[in-house]
Amino acid sequence: MSSFELLQPASLDEALQMLSAPGFAGRPASGSTALSLMRRAGILNVDSLVSLEGLRQSLAQIRLSPEGEAQIDGFVTLGEMEHHAGLLASHPVLARVFTTLANPRVRNVAMIGGYLSHGDPHMDLPPLLSALDARVTVRSLRGSRDIPVEQLYRGYYETALQADELIVGLVLPAQPTCASYKKITTRARHDWPTLGIAAAFEAAGSRLDRVRLFIGAATDRPTRLARTEALLAGQAWSAELGRRAADTAVSEAQLIPDSHGSTEYKQALLRAFLPDVFEEALQTAKPATRLA
Ligand SMILES: Cc1cc2nc3c(=O)[nH]c(=O)nc-3n(C[C@H](O)[C@H](O)[C@H](O)COP(=O)(O)OP(=O)(O)OC[C@H]3O[C@@H](n4cnc5c(N)ncnc54)[C@H](O)[C@@H]3O)c2cc1C
Repeated sequence: MSSFELLQPASLDEALQMLSAPGFAGRPASGSTALSLMRRAGILNVDSLVSLEGLRQSLAQIRLSPEGEAQIDGFVTLGEMEHHAGLLASHPVLARVFTTLANPRVRNVAMIGGYLSHGDPHMDLPPLLSALDARVTVRSLRGSRDIPVEQLYRGYYETALQADELIVGLVLPAQPTCASYKKITTRARHDWPTLGIAAAFEAAGSRLDRVRLFIGAATDRPTRLARTEALLAGQAWSAELGRRAADTAVSEAQLIPDSHGSTEYKQALLRAFLPDVFEEALQTAKPATRLA
């Protein structure tokens, strides 16, 4: 592994100035859980890293609005999100995801900004956050902009971020009545997923409304299944509707084979597990509107 200079800014402005300095060819570092693996494997060689650890003093808060929106600073760790009682109450779907996302050692240091910037298509949260219509706030010396999570990824490890930009926050709108994420692994439960399926929707009686459906891991970025959403919208949930939705999803999704499985295998997983995602979302619906 080549040596590198570690820069340690004490403020966001200082960090942004370092990233935009002429000729700067380093990377920002949050928890470094992904960076250190990529450096050790020799796929990332940089002469400097800008540690964002010092920014946690001022930018590591989780704020909840009375309407149920959550604003999460970019330097909050995944572990802090996992154990934040208010966030888990407003967004209970998150509690079920963290238990199988990596391991406690990774979650305790990885920060949500670093996590979302990584762009590995196998990550668990991007399809779920896309289904929840979340957005990230991005800062550079040039200003601030919001990017919906569903538009953050451009392909394998490619994001819409510029080299001088940092993710400084995540905004999670109030969780809809029903939301679920299914992580399907071929080995241990907490392994990287072979396929991830995320759905969020409102349920009026047994009718599904405002359905948002995304898959991950079997595609090069979180991918919305719009035709399947349209099939489900306004319909009463039933096992037959679940089968039709699964068939539509399989015909709509362009699934990519990798070391976790072939396209045909992933199609079989999508067909088998898509109805379960809707069943679980209905069964865990927020109490005030739980279906009869
Ligand atoms: C053993 C292991 C198992 C894992 N299993 C899973 C899993 O099952 N599911 C899953 O979803 N993930 C999994 N992960 C991925 C893990 O979640 C990521 O490694 C981690 O979240 C990255 O966060 P970090 O803070 O350590 O980022 P870093 O490693 O610090 O940075 C990652 C990338 O983002 C850039 N960056 C850092 N911070 C910012 C910022 N604020 N703004 C812009 N760019 C930034 C860096 O330059 C780098 O390119 C696993 C990782 C490991 C090591």
